[in-house]
Amino acid sequence: MMAKVHFLSARVYKWEYKHSLLGRFETLLKKMEFDKRIREGELIPIKTHFGSEGANQTIKPSFIRKIVEAVKAVGGKPFVTDSTRIQPYEYLEVANQNGYNFSSLGAPVIIADGIFGNDSVTVKAGELLGEVCIPSAVYDAHSMIVISHFKGHIQAGIGGAIKNLAMGGVSYHPRGGDWKKGRGRMHFLIGDKMKWIKEKCNLCKTCVNICPTDAVSVEDEKIVVSDKDCWRCGRCSRVCPKEALIVPQTDILFHKSLAEGAKAVLDTFKDKKKILYINFLLDIQPECDCMSVCDVPVIQNIGILVGEDPVAIDKASLDLVMKEKTLPSSLAEGIEQTRDQDVFSILHKKNSKGHIQEAENLELGTQKYEIVES
Ligand code: SF4
Ligand code: SF4
Repeated sequence: MMAKVHFLSARVYKWEYKHSLLGRFETLLKKMEFDKRIREGELIPIKTHFGSEGANQTIKPSFIRKIVEAVKAVGGKPFVTDSTRIQPYEYLEVANQNGYNFSSLGAPVIIADGIFGNDSVTVKAGELLGEVCIPSAVYDAHSMIVISHFKGHIQAGIGGAIKNLAMGGVSYHPRGGDWKKGRGRMHFLIGDKMKWIKEKCNLCKTCVNICPTDAVSVEDEKIVVSDKDCWRCGRCSRVCPKEALIVPQTDILFHKSLAEGAKAVLDTFKDKKKILYINFLLDIQPECDCMSVCDVPVIQNIGILVGEDPVAIDKASLDLVMKEKTLPSSLAEGIEQTRDQDVFSILHKKNSKGHIQEAENLELGTQKYEIVES
């Protein structure tokens, strides 16, 4: 069966609020049958990513506020959330700095796995991950709205709904600190330790400065990673300009583990049809919002997609990106997308479709969709 994916183009043709992207988004949300997804008085997580101190091209608070209003209109009690990405207290400050707070959104902003980052429930996952810990604020919910900023990602090629579910829906570690049950396992599947290549390293300390747990240090002109403190987030490796820090993972296993992580999160919901996915194809930058900076967009603003199927919405998002031309004066200037290769696959030398296919293999959804233009 084809999944329905609703599409709002970013183009505007009339200079009246109701024709603006925000105005049309508000109208579309009213058609999405929130009354069938949400019970009176129910707490509803609106799962997003708050960005980073220098990465502020995230989803605009004005759009999230419309979602908050739509949830409240049917008696739900929304809260806007993400799991621990950096230390939770500091992450809340990043959220505030990037415009996400009660005043702007009309709903509380909380860290899904608590202010100490260890409020989670361990659940069974698939063959690769074994067990993972799910933030309590997601585990206890009966319904959820997953809002994703669609953009590139250094390891997955793209980041959309599936990656938002998998990486953002699994905690860093459960109480007690076994990182193997946390999101880091998706990065470190074929080894437990980061490999440091001395000959390539210029001791620039970029890795030291990015680490959210102060786990990296320079000792006797060597890079030392503390086994105990490392969350296995992979940030230090991603920012290393010399490729001197290597995460023990293969691309194929990473895509498979993303699909497994997303499945583990979705399996905590009795009725998966209650979950709504919204992908924002705006400010489509080359990298993930967890990086310490954001770059100019590589593709023009496309619009917003809304649907009930995480596989269909990510496939539709990627297909829409592939129809566009890359932008001049961006990292993608001069790149020509082909039938088989999207701009992110080319930029990151990854297969962007990998985790979409793996998620379909695990029956999280279908890549067959029909676009409903609104
Ligand atoms: S970022 Fe890379 S090059 Fe710089 S100190 Fe760390 S390992 Fe060495
Ligand atoms: S993977 Fe790197 S950045 Fe992440 S916690 Fe470990 S040492 Fe720090």
